[in-house]
Amino acid sequence: MPRFLFGAHTGVAGGLHNGLIEGHDIACDTIQIFTSSPRQWAAKALTDEAIALWKVKATETKLAPLIAHDSYLINLASPDPETRQKSLNAFIAELERCEALGLDFLVSHPGAHMGAGEDAGCVQLAASLDTVHQATAGFHVRVALETTAAKGTTLGGVFEHFPAIIDRVAEPERLVVCLDTCHIYDAGYDLVGDPTGVWDRFGATVGFDRLKIIHANDSKFGLASKRDHHAHIGEGTIGDAGFVAFLSDPRLPESLPLIVETPVDDNKGHRENVAKLRALLT
Ligand SMILES: [Zn+2]
Ligand SMILES: [Zn+2]
Repeated sequence: MPRFLFGAHTGVAGGLHNGLIEGHDIACDTIQIFTSSPRQWAAKALTDEAIALWKVKATETKLAPLIAHDSYLINLASPDPETRQKSLNAFIAELERCEALGLDFLVSHPGAHMGAGEDAGCVQLAASLDTVHQATAGFHVRVALETTAAKGTTLGGVFEHFPAIIDRVAEPERLVVCLDTCHIYDAGYDLVGDPTGVWDRFGATVGFDRLKIIHANDSKFGLASKRDHHAHIGEGTIGDAGFVAFLSDPRLPESLPLIVETPVDDNKGHRENVAKLRALLT
């Protein structure tokens, strides 16, 4: 069994540094946060005070790597020039916030082709990422393209989209991949029935060296449902045995962050899901 880092998408109400405090309080090794509201275009610039407070808490808590997730509104693959420009501005601002905070990765959904076709979408996204990379030359933070549940015209629902994007950009070393267990199961990859086969396909297309983050979420609906509804670890269609079988593959890199984005409800929160994963996988 590979050794993992365990973490959660933590809350930042009252200040970004509260995401670090929550992560520390619920026994995480690593965390993911939103640096602005994920359902709004307008983002407030970070104050020097907020950045300083974040850095103090990051040093105190020793959580690492530090990960952000971008806004859901951003679509860098859009065929519409206006949407694309708005998305580029917002995405570059996301990366600037990440860099100011000293974060390692910005997880990003690859976007949707909106009817232009999957190939055209991958070409468009690669061109947008080149623009982003030029605007953020020398940044430490890297973009982690996330696998998706293949809803509608979204890209990232098949592994082949990742090389189609990454192999086209001028600076491919600045891109990594985040695999979401709920999303790939919902997209039709049977990680429960054929875990080795799913990793075979991942290795042959994306490659294990690009895998830097796993979003560990159980799925409410399951194989090929294209629904993207996260469930508590062990309470969805993947189940305890599914996670153990899928995440025991010896090809997985060491110290991979496993981030839960599971529901927070009356009976369970991130603390319980992180503890559950840790118990299953150590
Ligand atoms: Zn995810
Ligand atoms: Zn999801």
